[in-house]
Amino acid sequence: MAKKEFQTESKRLLDLMINSIYTNREIFLRELISNASDAIDKIYYKTLVDEALSFNKESYYIRISVDKDERILTVSDYGIGMTREELDDNLGVIARSGSLNFKKETEIKDGYDIIGQFGVGFYSAFMVADKITVVSRALGQDEAYRWESEGIDGYSIEPAHRDEVGTDVILRIKPNSEEDNYDDYLQEYRLRSIVKKYSDFIRYPIKMDVTHSRLKEGSENEYEDYTEEQVINSMVPIWKKNKNELKPEDYENFYFEKHYGFDQPLKHIHVSTDGTVSYNAILYIPERMPYDFYTKEYEKGLELYSSGVLIMNKCPDLLPDSFSFVKGMVDSEDLTLNISREMLQHDRQLKLIGKNIKTKIKNELKNLLQNEREKYETFYQSFGRQLKFGIYEGFGAEKELLQDLLLFYSSREKKMVTLDEYVARMPEEQKYIYYAAGESVAKLDKLPQSELVADKGYEILYFTDDVDEFTISMMREYQDKEFKSVSSGDLGLDEGAEPAESEASENQDLFGAMKDLLTGKVNDVRASKRLKNHPVCLSNEGAISIEMEKTLNAMPSAQSQQVKASKVLELNVHHPVFKTLQEAYSEDKEKFGLFTGLLYNQALLIEGLPLEVPVEFTNNICKIMI
Ligand code: ADP
Repeated sequence: MAKKEFQTESKRLLDLMINSIYTNREIFLRELISNASDAIDKIYYKTLVDEALSFNKESYYIRISVDKDERILTVSDYGIGMTREELDDNLGVIARSGSLNFKKETEIKDGYDIIGQFGVGFYSAFMVADKITVVSRALGQDEAYRWESEGIDGYSIEPAHRDEVGTDVILRIKPNSEEDNYDDYLQEYRLRSIVKKYSDFIRYPIKMDVTHSRLKEGSENEYEDYTEEQVINSMVPIWKKNKNELKPEDYENFYFEKHYGFDQPLKHIHVSTDGTVSYNAILYIPERMPYDFYTKEYEKGLELYSSGVLIMNKCPDLLPDSFSFVKGMVDSEDLTLNISREMLQHDRQLKLIGKNIKTKIKNELKNLLQNEREKYETFYQSFGRQLKFGIYEGFGAEKELLQDLLLFYSSREKKMVTLDEYVARMPEEQKYIYYAAGESVAKLDKLPQSELVADKGYEILYFTDDVDEFTISMMREYQDKEFKSVSSGDLGLDEGAEPAESEASENQDLFGAMKDLLTGKVNDVRASKRLKNHPVCLSNEGAISIEMEKTLNAMPSAQSQQVKASKVLELNVHHPVFKTLQEAYSEDKEKFGLFTGLLYNQALLIEGLPLEVPVEFTNNICKIMI
């Protein structure tokens, strides 16, 4: 039988499994049972929607059997099975991850990380087995096929026989080594406890031969062992259970069993409602971002069940984009089974459930924010951006839903604060919510434009995410307070800040001359109201800020059409440098030109904008040094 090679990436994962970097090996059983349960879900659904197929509930079960002498552990199911092609496609490649490409060799060393990112699935069986045989017969097929592999070398597929539709996964358990006791996975008691721990809520019976002891017939004190097939899981799906009966571990196990994520979920929400909308749901707020979260590949959605039958893996209509990070499932008796994706979109019941879920998630996040701030900040680090996108993309329609969930870094508190906290601290005369936009907290702390606002004792929110300014441009105001950038032309401060009229008019010619020299670069040159210790800065007029200019121009679509903020060069007329500038203006026009260029370029540097001709700038500095 010809051997086939595994895909390169599968090989790498396999290698990790075979060498068992991961210590929690027992989860292999959870993975196999979960696959078996999915396969039964699929056939169950088919028989319900296809009248030609008969339905016999008795035959939907999973069976675990052990042959201690041969060191064989088998997990069998009577699910949908796999065709030859499916065996090849599904077991020859990493199904779940799609790609390990972006992971560099160095990063792969930490097996944990890989498992954390992708989960392990079928391949996890190689943690405990040195040979795996899968015999499968697909629904509607007479022939079965045997897939077999002893690890990294590859696998083979050949025709086989199986009486009924379904799949047997047959593991040859590794021999014990000095460090590792693989015998465990052949012990009835151990296997039962693993099933109880991870797969108790699987809705189909998991059967296994269980040994009991009984009095020998006719004897009063002699015992004998006998075995009996037993269902070893409780089978009540977790979402049908009473919340009081469930422990946090139960929710965690369900999260892992379902592969919702590979992190520790931050919070779970268990909903059971009866009324206009009646449904059960288990929802999770993950802790860590899935690796593809902020890419086009990421698919949002919840598992959708109709009366306990899985009808869709990822129903997107149940989650608003802002909450696309939420994982979990919904089961409702009010949905018909035979429903297409298109029809679902217009389903009234589904819409109601979606609305209800949206509120539940919001309340849970609010709760977290109020009562477990640290956890909330962890959440926000991963998914805060998504909330902000939610406001922006909805053109502000989701503002009410999301505005109280936002956090920004505060110049004064030196930590993340909510808008509500900011507004509550505002002195009475402060009219605006002030913010500064830039790359990092460290840079913003030193931003010359903030000087006046900070001097007034006003708190400044730091916008370090490129979406921040776009988000608040959609929000316009919060609790009737408008947002104002410390770089905006008019700071909205009343008194004290105006440079004396005479100063301004005195220098009109000088500013005019500078403006001429900087034509096409800045729209105006002015005496600054906001600078205290720095000689120069840029501010902007109009809707597009300098930070927005940077963001928009960095987008791939922007290459042909560059956006420009309307910039103003502001000079601090009280700074000693200004005196030098005045002197040059009246005595040496060439020097004046040189200084103007230097100051403009300095302002660009402070903003983090690229210099148009860097070498010209450095040459000019050299000129004045010599
Ligand atoms: P995942 O279950 O996350 O997709 P796996 O590597 O565990 O990843 O499985 C790969 C695929 O193989 C599954 O998606 C499924 O299509 C198929 N598969 C695995 N086990 C079974 C089974 N017992 N019956 C039918 N198909 C199966």
